Amino acid sequence: MKQVDYIIIGQGIAGTMLSWFLRQRGYKVLVIDDAKFNSASRVAAGIINPVSGRRFEPAWLYDEIFPFAKSTYAELSALLNINILTERQLWNVFPSLQLKEAFDAKVSKGLTDKYTAVPESLQYEAYLQQPFGAAIIFGATVNLRAFLPAYRALLAAEGALLEETFDLNKLVINPSGVQYGEISAQKIIFCDGMATARNPYFEKIKFLPNKGEVLQIKVPGLETSDIIKKSITLVPQEDGTFWAGSSFVWDYVDEQPTWVQRDHLEEKLRQLLKVPYDVVGHLAAVRPSGNDRRPMIGFHPEFPVIGIFNGLGTKGCSLAPFMAAHFTDVLAGEVKLMPEVDVNRYFNMGRG
Ligand SMILES: Cc1cc2nc3c(=O)[nH]c(=O)nc-3n(C[C@H](O)[C@H](O)[C@H](O)COP(=O)(O)OP(=O)(O)OC[C@H]3O[C@@H](n4cnc5c(N)ncnc54)[C@H](O)[C@@H]3O)c2cc1C
Repeated sequence: MKQVDYIIIGQGIAGTMLSWFLRQRGYKVLVIDDAKFNSASRVAAGIINPVSGRRFEPAWLYDEIFPFAKSTYAELSALLNINILTERQLWNVFPSLQLKEAFDAKVSKGLTDKYTAVPESLQYEAYLQQPFGAAIIFGATVNLRAFLPAYRALLAAEGALLEETFDLNKLVINPSGVQYGEISAQKIIFCDGMATARNPYFEKIKFLPNKGEVLQIKVPGLETSDIIKKSITLVPQEDGTFWAGSSFVWDYVDEQPTWVQRDHLEEKLRQLLKVPYDVVGHLAAVRPSGNDRRPMIGFHPEFPVIGIFNGLGTKGCSLAPFMAAHFTDVLAGEVKLMPEVDVNRYFNMGRG
């Protein structure tokens, strides 16, 4: 019998960050992951955008979560000998006069903050359709395609990874822990993204999953390290291609790429680019989001040996480090769970 402190199901950004902080504290962890090629973390661009919406409002908790993410990824970069987080300008092309005016109004009231700037001149004129101009946003990207496999190799080398599909029917729950085949643990924590939506222990969670489709494109001549955003976002990749996405579809049949969304993405590309491009890839994945768009963290109310770390929605890369560290502090008995992220809000729904 193998004894660990925590079994973690899933090695997307959630399971990666939670296992990292638990292991840093000296807990023994076993991560079980089936390497689904189209998990959200494997398809995502890894963008960290400090502002959201038409009003360029700072993202939730951004002043706390971004510095924390930056230092966490820096530590992991040094350990794994790869570059994980790159701070980048996001060249935000206004899709309409209305949005440019909204931004200008903000600037004229002195409300531009540390996250945005007015460019000195219009860049990319030969490549982009930008009749209403552009603003600069100070963002970042997380290189998930390098980070997740490198961290996985570390787990494997240390005997902390089981590469297989977890089968809930084989889980035995005791008052003091869980048993899964030959492994026993104090707790099991589900970090399995959208798979949690099929988990009967968490059937009360109101998931609002949405599917995103992405094209991989080549734009001959366009060389930049900036993220470029209009109604589609281009993120430069290490191989010279661009990640171009993504769609948001709430009503979908399966997780596969579709011709309909490819047409929509290409329409947006034509509205952005003045130059020809080639499509060299097309991927789709489902974002694990709750109906209130906040993470879902904590324990099953009846079976507290079962935990969850999920609901990172569209912001996995910025939220995961901070929230995983917070959950680790909770598991260590040092702090109480932030009520906004406590999964119990779903179990308490409808109670007076
Ligand atoms: C198209 C798209 C673009 C996105 N762009 C961004 C972005 O730019 N920036 C950003 O911050 N976020 C982005 N996101 C959101 C981000 O991807 C998610 O917030 C994040 O990846 C969720 O991570 P997770 O670990 O919770 O889930 P997942 O990434 O889905 O990971 C779940 C893991 O569990 C494993 N698993 C599932 N079931 C089992 C099982 N039974 N047994 C074993 N293993 C199992 C899977 O293989 C997978 O590795 C994007 C998402 C999509 C779809």
